[in-house]
Amino acid sequence: MTVLGARLRLEQKENVSNFVVTLPLYGFRVENMEDDHVLLLECACGHRGYLTKRELIRARAHSYDRVIGLAFVLRCRLCKKRGRAEIKVKRLAPH
Ligand SMILES: [Zn+2]
Repeated sequence: MTVLGARLRLEQKENVSNFVVTLPLYGFRVENMEDDHVLLLECACGHRGYLTKRELIRARAHSYDRVIGLAFVLRCRLCKKRGRAEIKVKRLAPH
């Protein structure tokens, strides 16, 4: 029972830590992104997407690009328009 209780508490803790952490965007560049960082894009049309650093580089983003500026570069996959997305950088909690 105590073992099970401890496990349950651990799982709850993991669930909490699985919530992504939003990082301040000011001065945040593509090169600052790590493997557990994702770019969350929320377009005005309602489309939401994630991009990893690898995908950004593949999409020809430069490592010195400010992440916040990418909002004007990246095209929404749904409405095909640029500059409508709100960008956030999230860190995925380790599993
Ligand atoms: Zn859109």
